[in-house]
Amino acid sequence: MTELAFHNSATRRREIFVPIDAEHVRLYVCGPTVYDLAHLGNARPVVVFDVLTRLLRRRFPRVTYVRNITDVDDKINARSQESGEPIGAITARTTADFHRDMTALGCLPPDEEPRATDNIAPMIALIEKLIANGHAYAAEGHVLFSVPSFPDYGKLSGRTPDEMMAGARVDVAPYKRDPGDFVLWKPSEADLPGWDSPWGRGRPGWHIECSAMSWRYLGPEFDIHGGGHDLLFPHHENELAQSVCAFPGSRFARTWLHNGMLLVNGEKMSKSLGNFMTVRDILAHGPWAGEAFRLLLLKTHYRAALDYTAERLEEAHTELNDFYALLARDLPQPEADDALVAEMAEWALEPLHDDLNTALAIARLRDLRTLENVATVGGSATAVLGRIGKSWEPESGQAAAALRQAADVLGLLASDPQAWRQGGEADENAEIEAAITARLEARKAKNWAEADRIRAELSAKGIVLEDTAGATTWRRG
Ligand SMILES: [Zn+2]
Repeated sequence: MTELAFHNSATRRREIFVPIDAEHVRLYVCGPTVYDLAHLGNARPVVVFDVLTRLLRRRFPRVTYVRNITDVDDKINARSQESGEPIGAITARTTADFHRDMTALGCLPPDEEPRATDNIAPMIALIEKLIANGHAYAAEGHVLFSVPSFPDYGKLSGRTPDEMMAGARVDVAPYKRDPGDFVLWKPSEADLPGWDSPWGRGRPGWHIECSAMSWRYLGPEFDIHGGGHDLLFPHHENELAQSVCAFPGSRFARTWLHNGMLLVNGEKMSKSLGNFMTVRDILAHGPWAGEAFRLLLLKTHYRAALDYTAERLEEAHTELNDFYALLARDLPQPEADDALVAEMAEWALEPLHDDLNTALAIARLRDLRTLENVATVGGSATAVLGRIGKSWEPESGQAAAALRQAADVLGLLASDPQAWRQGGEADENAEIEAAITARLEARKAKNWAEADRIRAELSAKGIVLEDTAGATTWRRG
């Protein structure tokens, strides 16, 4: 079987991947802090680690993928104070939005999705271990991790103490023994979420949440920890320090994988630059947009910076149209155990084993499309076969079957090809028109409740109705 290797951020080297337990691969990925809609940068790690999980599932008998929900955080508290919406309502709504958006991007749910607020007890237990081991101390209702107590601090991110001080934007507080010490627990005022603890009523710091949830679901040492490169310091550095100090002799995560940043039109996304985009903004382009955005993301290697532009989304849309046009043909179905189909699919997936090279795997899907076109409508495959160094002579249907199998591991081309070609857009538009007609009927019958219900239903789909002079028009809001 093809060797599996990753670039490990912790060692800055390419390493052959060997799981701790050959029967069971365990991975943890930092999940969202739920106070707002997911933006494009939030979507990238979810898609990248979805492909990784699909690949691991193909090779290993069992995979446990844990991705947490951070539902206690100062950003959530601040949002609630600004808007007046209760914290529980914000986190429930945002979690549901996140699930809906990630499903639209073709991502499968993780095996475990622990919420921080359901895991306060393991956080307190972990903090108690750190105090007992001499790596943390309580002061004025806070508990702090003592950075000087852990000489390896900074090794994961490869930063000097000065760089770390600058990167962590440390608050100098009178209760800190060292300015670099970070918060594990802090006191909560009466109007903020809080839990009873040995240090009084309070709430956890963000970093301890991930150490506690990975420990609870995967144990003190596991195979892969993933997340965006922006989390490497201080978040992952702190997670590592907490976990190895609480469990002396353990290594926490063996392999660290970090995806690169996402730019919009060549610039870092920011609200002030006006290039801030949510996944919802992408999905509003049409029913094709979720899969097109997924393809766009996977056309760039996960560690490289990625630039989103509307042109690149349209390009991915066109590319999907070409793939689906091929798959919509009435092609012969090869047997399930067809050896050539398996060989071609394996070849297309080979690059994923080399540090998840999705870009090359997608290029190979295009080669399979060319081979199918030649087998079905004629032409010459000599150029493609010469370039890839293969002497295959696929019959009609074989390359398409291999294409489907390989695309499935990338989470692509899973839609019904006929429906895709007929244009989901057209179908959805017809549905909207039908709903508008039903609402007009309800209004004529003075059934205002029903009319309002239909308006609300459309509004939830991002459709805005405009009533003018007896007619109703609509647009996407
Ligand atoms: Zn985390």
